[in-house]
Amino acid sequence: MPQFDMIVINADDAKDSTIENHTAGKPLREGGGDETYRCGACKTKLMVNVAHRDAHGVVVRCGKCGKINIEPHHHHH
Ligand SMILES: [Zn+2]
Repeated sequence: MPQFDMIVINADDAKDSTIENHTAGKPLREGGGDETYRCGACKTKLMVNVAHRDAHGVVVRCGKCGKINIEPHHHHH
């Protein structure tokens, strides 16, 4: 069950992206796979047990700390 820390970006860098809003205490997405993604700043789990394709390209604002996270690509080859 791989777990990834997402990458925090500046709001300015996300202005051209569609930002999804996470709500504290509830994953933005859950189920369908085995990958868990955490906020890169506060380690809140933003997506839990999702399929890779469901996390791909996601831009999400953490409901706990308010930082904007993007999917990490370090596991892509
Ligand atoms: Zn956070």
